[in-house]
Amino acid sequence: MTFNIAVLPGDGIGPEVTREAVRILRAISEGQFELKFEELPIGGNAVKQFGSPLPERTLERCLASDAVMLGAVGGPDFDSLPPALKPETGLLAIRKALGGFANLRPAIAYEMLTECSPLRPEVLKGADILFVRELLGGAYFGQPRGFAGEGASRTGFNTMIYSASEVERIAHVAFKLARDRRKKVTSVDKANVLEVSQLWRQVVIEVSKQYPDVKLEHQLVDSCAMRLVTAPNSFDVVLSENLFGDILSDEAAALTGSLGMLPSATVGGKINLYEPIHGSAPDIAGKGIANPLGAIATAAMLLRHSMKREKEARAIEQAITQVLGAGYRTADLKRGSSERLTGTEEMGRLVLEAIGTGSTRPASA
Ligand code: NAD
Repeated sequence: MTFNIAVLPGDGIGPEVTREAVRILRAISEGQFELKFEELPIGGNAVKQFGSPLPERTLERCLASDAVMLGAVGGPDFDSLPPALKPETGLLAIRKALGGFANLRPAIAYEMLTECSPLRPEVLKGADILFVRELLGGAYFGQPRGFAGEGASRTGFNTMIYSASEVERIAHVAFKLARDRRKKVTSVDKANVLEVSQLWRQVVIEVSKQYPDVKLEHQLVDSCAMRLVTAPNSFDVVLSENLFGDILSDEAAALTGSLGMLPSATVGGKINLYEPIHGSAPDIAGKGIANPLGAIATAAMLLRHSMKREKEARAIEQAITQVLGAGYRTADLKRGSSERLTGTEEMGRLVLEAIGTGSTRPASA
């Protein structure tokens, strides 16, 4: 059976890193299973070509696919466009149309990259966190929202709101994923102040009763932010609502040393969406120096969560570790003189070689 992947490279470094992720998927599937890729426009380049950040055809083809893989959208050329034409409008629209409510973001502190992180190696050691962030609710979507009043008394307001069923479904995702990991869920809230968090906590406790093998702890978002940098290795799965998860998972990017390392998956809707967490990085776009490892790790997540190909997903993740272990670094990761600087394409090729051979050339070769 053919598995159809809609590929949306987007803007800036999006196409550069996505190309490497697709190359790896093609190679790993060869002779094993059939993948079909269809490249489609989104974001600023789609506005230029088709006058819309999410052309109708892109949306249609994504909805007809088995999974969507996205690069990144946006850039200074598009910042002055009206809201309906902004690349980010296309991104939010595709996320909404695919309907995923659970955003999964692993943040792993690779031992060989500890020098890239502002945290001390002994603090980072062993940190391997999976953020499970609710994506369709909370303050980003709650009504009412808007502006009111005039002059000095004008106000801006948003509503942080969750129904019990919204909390229930995301909590199940977190507990199920924790079962395949170290069996611990840290549920983040602000239950000492917010009613919405009090409901969140009640529902998470109810759901946890169905997972007696998974340990549940609650953590207030403010102290969680601190614990992430003081004891990151004390977390396994971190479950949170939309706004808190947005902030905390970016904070956790500091563990990995570069935004370019972080993959993500959005699941639970009609079709899963896979994207590295970084943006279009206009400052380095077109130079061939972007780190493709976040996009490549995103491809591993696609194999794991949409295709149940755990073996192949692990092979990619191990290859990433091996290539880093052999001393290869893209510019964003390079700190020492003994490391070998690689560009986007070479990094992709090295990962591919490591998958094929189980090893890669040492940095000094
Ligand atoms: P960014 O993630 O694009 O870049 C932040 C910094 O990290 C930059 O210095 C960049 O060079 C570096 N960086 C990011 N990814 C990298 C990689 N793979 N390899 C090496 N270095 C990398 O965030 P930003 O600068 O705030 O935003 C730039 C544009 O991207 C904006 O238009 C923004 O709206 C858009 N954006 C899009 C997404 C998305 O498509 N999901 C996410 C965030 C930002």
